[in-house]
Amino acid sequence: MSLSLYSEYRQQQLEALLEITRIFASSPDLSTLLRTILGYAAELVRADFGYIALTTRSGALRITTGYRLPTAVFERLSPYLAQKRPVAEFWSEEELRYQLDMVNDVVSSSLEQVIALPLVLEDEDVVGGIFLFRAGTIAFTPGDRMLLRDFADQAAVAVRNARQVEQLRTEKARVEAIIENNPNGIMILDPGMRVEIINRALSKLLGISEDAVRGKHCSEVLKLENTTGEHLCMQQGAPPPPTTRVIYGEGDILRPGRKRVTVGVSYAPLFGNDGNLVNVIVTFVDITRYREAEELKSTFISVISHELKTPVSIIKGYAGTLAREDVQLDPQFVRESGRIIVEEADRLTELIDNLLDASRIQAGALSLRLEPVDLAMIARKAVERFSAQSPHHQFILQIPNNLPLVMADDRRLRQVFDNLISNAVKYSPQGGNIEVGAKADGRRVLVYVRDSGIGIPEEEFDDIFEPFYRVDSSLRRRAQGAGLGLFLVKAIIQAMGGEIWVESELGKGSAFFFTLPVAEENER
Ligand code: ATP
Ligand code: MG
Repeated sequence: MSLSLYSEYRQQQLEALLEITRIFASSPDLSTLLRTILGYAAELVRADFGYIALTTRSGALRITTGYRLPTAVFERLSPYLAQKRPVAEFWSEEELRYQLDMVNDVVSSSLEQVIALPLVLEDEDVVGGIFLFRAGTIAFTPGDRMLLRDFADQAAVAVRNARQVEQLRTEKARVEAIIENNPNGIMILDPGMRVEIINRALSKLLGISEDAVRGKHCSEVLKLENTTGEHLCMQQGAPPPPTTRVIYGEGDILRPGRKRVTVGVSYAPLFGNDGNLVNVIVTFVDITRYREAEELKSTFISVISHELKTPVSIIKGYAGTLAREDVQLDPQFVRESGRIIVEEADRLTELIDNLLDASRIQAGALSLRLEPVDLAMIARKAVERFSAQSPHHQFILQIPNNLPLVMADDRRLRQVFDNLISNAVKYSPQGGNIEVGAKADGRRVLVYVRDSGIGIPEEEFDDIFEPFYRVDSSLRRRAQGAGLGLFLVKAIIQAMGGEIWVESELGKGSAFFFTLPVAEENER
């Protein structure tokens, strides 16, 4: 090659490499890059055709890019390469001759020259190879080989970058899937404590969409009350104190009109290589159940101590007086004391029975004996009993003569009426009507107990059926009760296949309704 020809050739080569660098900078996909690199390389060494093969995950070679590559050659080489590993022997003269023979088998022109260069990464990893074929007797020169080396290096870098991008993408997708599908709430904050991401669980927990909170300061997003522990998000505006440890706090999420949720919140800082805060990862665990169980335990203890202590101290007081030897007691007083002692002992027994029932229900061990039962008779007897004890109330019984039998547990059904009627009496201290009624309603019997007492606020309709729950009112503090009656009633009704609900208006009165299945003919 003459000097001028050589310099022209160098010029072309530089232009080609420059062009490739330019294309690199515009970060196209891997196949475009490889096609460009192969195209320039082939043209510079005047190859007739060529290809780039990359190593697959399993380590074999696969043709990914062709330069004027005849389909027949592609089809012939593919199975051969699929069995090859790009180890040292693969690049030997012998192996390449073998490839050339195969190619000549399928194309009519007789090719005599082949050159192949591995694509090697810095860490000696062979990620594939460039292969070029040329007709004629002029062999590829060491100069060609050097030139191709540059292109092979470029291709190797392209492959490495593409693999890294792919790896990052997979990694990112994996992390995103973990965050999004985590059953715990997750919020990712920037160093200014503004929300970058919230996951699905948290968006449900807070009742807001991710779009609505992105970019907001976390103190605007996370509104907690009854907080304990440390909360970065409660420190309005000010940047968080530099901390390298995980911070933990608890609190109730404020969601107007919805049930209270208690969460445990941990704030974990994430630092970059330069030691600067990159993110704060906030994780939310719903601890409502623990909190409720804890509260139930303390309510239980306070209710029990109060409700048990009262009758015990009354009994003790009267019994103490009766036992005194230094005073002459009026027989009328003795009888009255005896009656009070019996009454208080009954209250104690009832409370203990209720507690036992409640714990049976919570353990799922409430056993019922269902049989056809005459509900009308049970209701009538309950009303008779209460009207004898409650002279200030007017009892009205509304039950048709032909009311069908219901499937129920006789003793438990009695308990239901006792609880509902005793509530009706207890929560209508001014007296008034108490209606107890029943009627057939298809395959069910519908029962109601209605009073004209103090009523129940609508937002308490669900809660009154919870164990130990009592509506806060001045009457509540006077009227005794453990808050177990309705919890037991509901559990019993549901266990007998019925439903229970309440309708009420504050100051006007309440009506409790329940249904029970009618006993079928063949069950009688
Ligand atoms: P217990 O029945 O264990 O002796 P209690 O009567 O307080 O105690 P529940 O029968 O479960 O408990 O009733 C729960 C709460 O619901 C009551 O404390 C009361 O505030 C309210 N409540 C129940 N029935 C009525 C009613 N008929 N009228 C008004 N409030 C009622
Ligand atoms: Mg009650």
